[in-house]
Amino acid sequence: MMHKICPRCGSRKVKWIIPQNWSQWVCYDCDYTGPVIEGNDDLAEEIHENYLKSKNKKNKND
Ligand SMILES: [Zn+2]
Repeated sequence: MMHKICPRCGSRKVKWIIPQNWSQWVCYDCDYTGPVIEGNDDLAEEIHENYLKSKNKKNKND
C-alpha cells in the first residue's frame, strides 16, 4: 500500500498545509516542509534508517 511520506525522515505524519499549493506539506516528526513523496512501508523504512544514520553522523561531528 502506498502512503504519503516525508522524503527526509520517512515519517507518515505529514500534512498538507496550504490548499492553494499542493507541494507544501509539513512533517510533524522532523519539521520538514515542502513536497512529499509517495511510497510503501519498505521505502519509508529505508528513508527513516538513512535519516537516523545521517543524524548520528552529524551528532558525532558536532
Ligand atoms: Zn520528516
